[in-house]
Amino acid sequence: MSFSSSSVSSHPLAVYGWDEGWEAEFAPYAEQGLLPGRVVRVDRGLCDVITPVGTVRADTEFVVPRDPMKVVCTGDWVAVDPDGSDPLYVRTLLPRRTAFVRSTSSKRSEGQVLATNIDHVVICVSLAVELDLGRIERFLALAMSSSNGEALLHKSALSWESGAQPVVVLTKADLVPDAVTLAYLVQDVETTAPGVPVLTASATRGEGLDVLSAVVGGGTSVLLGQSGAGKSTLANALLGEDVLEVQAARDVDGKGRHTTTTRNLLALPGGGVLIDTPGLRGVGLWDAEVGVGQVFSEIEELSERCRFHDCAHESEPGCAVRSAVDAGELPVRRLESYRKLMRENQWIVAKTDARLRAEIKKDWKRKGAQGRAAMEAKRGRWR
Ligand code: GDP
Ligand code: ZN
Repeated sequence: MSFSSSSVSSHPLAVYGWDEGWEAEFAPYAEQGLLPGRVVRVDRGLCDVITPVGTVRADTEFVVPRDPMKVVCTGDWVAVDPDGSDPLYVRTLLPRRTAFVRSTSSKRSEGQVLATNIDHVVICVSLAVELDLGRIERFLALAMSSSNGEALLHKSALSWESGAQPVVVLTKADLVPDAVTLAYLVQDVETTAPGVPVLTASATRGEGLDVLSAVVGGGTSVLLGQSGAGKSTLANALLGEDVLEVQAARDVDGKGRHTTTTRNLLALPGGGVLIDTPGLRGVGLWDAEVGVGQVFSEIEELSERCRFHDCAHESEPGCAVRSAVDAGELPVRRLESYRKLMRENQWIVAKTDARLRAEIKKDWKRKGAQGRAAMEAKRGRWR
């Protein structure tokens, strides 16, 4: 059986993101008589899969459960065996385009896949509170570290192109008193996130939703952001109905809230797909070094002109980054968040990589020794 592009767009799974790429990927399984489907929910080895014949319950026991990164996840495209009864069996996991991974606990350093095949990461930032640009930078680094599952396992292959596109949405714009202030806030965020679209939205007034709806219309999106940022409200506005539970204004820490839906993957009436898994709330950084570099691209560029290749931009002579700060071209706050994020990120990577961990320890020892030597030299002057 062959398909033209018109049959792809009229495919029953088109609203769930089925396209020519998946069609081609799935072709050999179609020949075996398997059904294509997208996972909308996973629950202890069983998953709900949307297929052309409706939503089925399927067991994942035949698909490589030994590697935690390859456990079937919401957003995955799979091949389901139509023979059998409830539950059916998932036979194959189609290669992921992107995967959103977070470190699980401090003890175990494997990643946990939270959602897959994501095109847009929508970072929600509330205008009800003062803008925390550092926090936006952290979320951006996280968004850019989402990548295809293989690449994440082999860190070198991480790249912006293989990951999802970030978008920042400043929510609750109705709480900003005037348009000029709003424009300044947008500008602040744009400077923090060069090249990243920054939108504003007010769910209560229904403003900005058309633009957002157009942005997320072309693929699969996840909403990230602090609890109380307005993610559920925005999701409901995009869905056109109250699918997700919005927290009461008092319940700002988000404890005890749950979603009323059993599906973690929803088709939007304006096009596109939204993924909202419980795990996506409160995500942490995971192997985000490349992401950090992209968020702080101007610092990375400057550091190429530093005299020393491994300049830490502290007190080294000929440091291009420090001179940019001194010249007022680079806000010192930017440099500080860059350092903080790099340190944090290095530590997370080190948890998984014994060799790197040893190197960092050696570096600390060396710096400690240098510090002691410097102190002794200073003391020597007074002798
Ligand atoms: P989430 O934790 O990110 O999902 O945030 P919620 O969607 O639960 O919203 C948190 C609070 O912000 C709720 O009290 C909402 O009513 C409120 N809120 C959400 N969107 C808006 C908005 O556009 N304007 C105003 N004024 N409040 C909003
Ligand atoms: Zn430097």
